Amino acid sequence: MPLDTLNVDPEVFFRVERSGQPLVVYECKLEGGPCGMFVEGTTTTVSAHLRGHGITGPDGASTNCPWAGCSKTLKRGGMTRHILTHLGVKVRCSMCGVVKCRLDLLRAHIRSSESCRLACVDTVHRPEGRFLVPTGWTAAHQV
Ligand SMILES: [Zn+2]
Ligand SMILES: [Zn+2]
Ligand SMILES: [Zn+2]
Repeated sequence: MPLDTLNVDPEVFFRVERSGQPLVVYECKLEGGPCGMFVEGTTTTVSAHLRGHGITGPDGASTNCPWAGCSKTLKRGGMTRHILTHLGVKVRCSMCGVVKCRLDLLRAHIRSSESCRLACVDTVHRPEGRFLVPTGWTAAHQV
């Protein structure tokens, strides 16, 4: 029995099951419709999820941030990255441990640093993140 059931895209469940690795998902707090979904903290997922909420339009258009409690006005093109900061996803360089709030910033660090060139990107999750665990993984860890 899973510890709790999270409302996620079936595709995410499938991917977690196939990889056998737990994944961290975050509760969507976009206003304007009951959602209750948990989304992965990646650019692709968030951008697709925004489309699902009907938040679309030209990248240059000014939009109000639809996140509950936030009323920032920003360009549509920067919305995905902005939402990622609401999720609190951060990334860390596996070599020197530096933490950045955006993957592109960390990639730039890894590219530009001689000693960190072979570093991996570790994801740092906030307590709000929930683990989505594959069934096999749960069973193995319950024994
Ligand atoms: Zn949503
Ligand atoms: Zn916002
Ligand atoms: Zn580094």
